[in-house]
Amino acid sequence: MNIHPLRIGRTKVPFGQFYGGLQGFSVSEFAADKDHFIWVPIHAYLLEHPTVGPILVDTGISPAQAAHTDYYRGSIMEHVMDADEYDLPAEETMPAQLARLGHRPEDIRAVFVTHFHEDHVGALNLFAHAPAYLGAAEYAAREDKVFGLVPLAYPPSVAAITDWRPLEFTGPALGGFAGSADVFGDGSVIALPTPGHSPGSTSVLVDHRFLLTGDAMYTIRHLAVDQVRAIQTSGETRYVDSIRRIQWLRRELPELLVLTSHDHTEYGERLITGLATGQLSDADLAWAKSYEQATFDELANINPARLPRFVPAADGGSVGHAE
Ligand SMILES: [Zn+2]
Repeated sequence: MNIHPLRIGRTKVPFGQFYGGLQGFSVSEFAADKDHFIWVPIHAYLLEHPTVGPILVDTGISPAQAAHTDYYRGSIMEHVMDADEYDLPAEETMPAQLARLGHRPEDIRAVFVTHFHEDHVGALNLFAHAPAYLGAAEYAAREDKVFGLVPLAYPPSVAAITDWRPLEFTGPALGGFAGSADVFGDGSVIALPTPGHSPGSTSVLVDHRFLLTGDAMYTIRHLAVDQVRAIQTSGETRYVDSIRRIQWLRRELPELLVLTSHDHTEYGERLITGLATGQLSDADLAWAKSYEQATFDELANINPARLPRFVPAADGGSVGHAE
């Protein structure tokens, strides 16, 4: 089926949040460090399922959220989030991105929520008419208001959803995964449990060719989990375990490509650009596989030359970039 990346703005994150998990970059440093930011894109995905119709995987952020003020008023997030954390140009809002593909929000037949973090559910309220699928563990943890898993602190986004469909992974084992959920019964959209980043983070395998990880992996480089790791507020063991299962799946499905939500690297950008028509060309697939071979060994250890590093802004400002 066609798979269309939707660019829903960008977010400014500390380099250490993304890459500092093995360098002792702690949660308190995460809160205090205002000098090593990078911008990363926010992507959702539209799947054009042949019988179900258009399906979304995640919804990105909303204009109200990017404006920061009213969206967070009265919630703990009003104080936690930086006011300039998001950037959402008019042509990158969810309705604008759908319109580019000839769809209106009401055309969407189902929505997947990879996890309940706010840069993935921000526009969910546009799809109150549709069933919302997510991992059962994520659904069960929805009232945890402490560690960012706080959908109830974002009532503008989630309050309108009435048809939650928590997924249990009772289907067959696949790759390193002990269970799976074949959501539409035709093998084209298989949900896999990849917890750690949040209690019930879920990845979506499309046509056995693309794995949409949400934030279970931030970028392709996070596949090398022993060398490149995001900071974890909880669940680090499960995070590492989930990535090892993804490594295993990748060995079992050699043509598999991993599409994350925030991959700012050359690899991520090229795949996003390459999918503009909904299909990836053989040339882009070959490019991606040669990039992976130059980046990882057989055991998914990273080539030291491709370890991420922070490059400060030329003007001395707080936002640099990662190489
Ligand atoms: Zn995210």
